[in-house]
Amino acid sequence: MRRRPRNDYELAPDVIKKVPWFRRRLLRWFGGSSRSFPWREPGRTPYEVLVAEVMLQRTVAANVARVYPAFLAKYPDFAALSRAEPGELEEILKPLGLWRLKAHIFRRLAEAIAERGGEVPATRDELERLESVGQYTASVVLNTVHGIPEPFVDVNMARVLERFFGPRTYFDVRDDPYLHTLSRRVVEGGDSLQANWAVLDFSALVCRAKRPLCEQCPVRARCDYFNGPRNPDMAALRAEK
Ligand code: SF4
Repeated sequence: MRRRPRNDYELAPDVIKKVPWFRRRLLRWFGGSSRSFPWREPGRTPYEVLVAEVMLQRTVAANVARVYPAFLAKYPDFAALSRAEPGELEEILKPLGLWRLKAHIFRRLAEAIAERGGEVPATRDELERLESVGQYTASVVLNTVHGIPEPFVDVNMARVLERFFGPRTYFDVRDDPYLHTLSRRVVEGGDSLQANWAVLDFSALVCRAKRPLCEQCPVRARCDYFNGPRNPDMAALRAEK
């Protein structure tokens, strides 16, 4: 079932008030601590963005970074990908794991894009009709390629925002209107792609799923989790603050 992001949640005034502060601090942190990946280089085509996102599904970024340049050199566009020899395509995808599945997805994507005359869709509805393109991947394409400030909502962004601003209601992050409304506010207002990448990198490097590095965190002064009862282990750090 396709899920439409719902952005109609009425955020509490104290949450709204914290957004610009959080954004500023996060972007400043990102300026000095961002990760560098080949798919983040400026001028990437819609094809290159989509290829990276499909590769990144259920695969760690470091593995994708190793495969991505060679893949683009061999298959520089959808036309080349549609002519790919199945065995060669699987071989180049092997280091990512799930290579048969990914090869199948790439073939289906190439067919679908060929039927559209080579154009990658520019609307969420059309993007989500493509093989393996869900809410998250559509948001990445819309923001990276078309500059539309869509938040990259996944479990990592959810974790950071929930810890800092307070928890969501729904189990599945794709369904939660609080999370979608809040994340949209965080990435809107210019630099939306930088803001999305900043949350991604921050979730991987600082606000990690296990053992977040609260003692080094640039937003801990106003973080709900750090300052609240959900984090009893941080009592000592809170006392130092
Ligand atoms: S203080 Fe800790 S929990 Fe809060 S945002 Fe920073 S790393 Fe995450």
